Amino acid sequence: MALTQQQARSLVDLIAATRDEEIDCGTCLSELAVFAEQHIEGKPVDQAREAVRAHLAICGECDEEFEHLLAAIEAISDQPAS
Ligand SMILES: [Zn+2]
Repeated sequence: MALTQQQARSLVDLIAATRDEEIDCGTCLSELAVFAEQHIEGKPVDQAREAVRAHLAICGECDEEFEHLLAAIEAISDQPAS
């Protein structure tokens, strides 16, 4: 089975996005809240969280989870503090 050019390219992108500090989905999700807060507050994401960013780039499921989390945090921060 031959890969189409597009398939080959996305495979190359996938490999290029893979790093030494690759984490799995469970680790990513447990770090995601901290990552999202830093992201929203505009703080520089620290080195430990770079692995989360890298994982989001290659994992659609976690990326979707991240989008939901961002929306939830933004919804909360729109509300007046009680
Ligand atoms: Zn994942």
